[in-house]
Amino acid sequence: MKPIQIITGDITTIHADAIVNAANTSLLGGGGVDGAIHRAAGPALLEECRTLGGCATGQAKATGAYRLPCRHVIHTPGPIWRGGTAGEDRLLADCYRNCLACAASLGCQTVAFPSISTGAYRFPLDRAARIALQAIRDGLRVYPAITCVTIVCFDARTCAAYEQALAEVERAHA
Ligand code: ADP
Repeated sequence: MKPIQIITGDITTIHADAIVNAANTSLLGGGGVDGAIHRAAGPALLEECRTLGGCATGQAKATGAYRLPCRHVIHTPGPIWRGGTAGEDRLLADCYRNCLACAASLGCQTVAFPSISTGAYRFPLDRAARIALQAIRDGLRVYPAITCVTIVCFDARTCAAYEQALAEVERAHA
């Protein structure tokens, strides 16, 4: 199995050790993938999230997965796109790095990410995909116990952007 996989699908159905939630800083639920994860996990997820006191953009906090088929949910608020001069690139890379650090500390071998910040937060897709794949590639070297990272894209356009970015990142390091 390749260490980085890109698939189209619904992250709430993925049997990874951890799935990542593109949350907001309140950690109290929202739309998009956040809403889907809370709906699928059931109300106990929100109860646990209420105890966490929110989370800063780019940081990560883990909870149980409740009715989801994974073991852990790692919540990370991505940056809202503000034109690119407000530290968005660094904050997005922080999300991926900090989620992988959190997953490694939980003993996870397999981690699934959605496309953080490219929905309601409007981060440009191609740019986000390149940042994500570079950060994941770096993280896989730092945490060798993580054997497989899957990016679960919700639509074909997102999937194509991540496949293109993966090819670019692999070429750059060939
Ligand atoms: P953000 O606020 O970080 O932009 P969104 O949830 O609005 O987060 O969008 C992030 C990405 O997640 C988008 O590509 C969106 O299409 C996708 N998405 C929405 N629901 C799901 C799901 N169930 N599984 C995987 N990806 C999803």
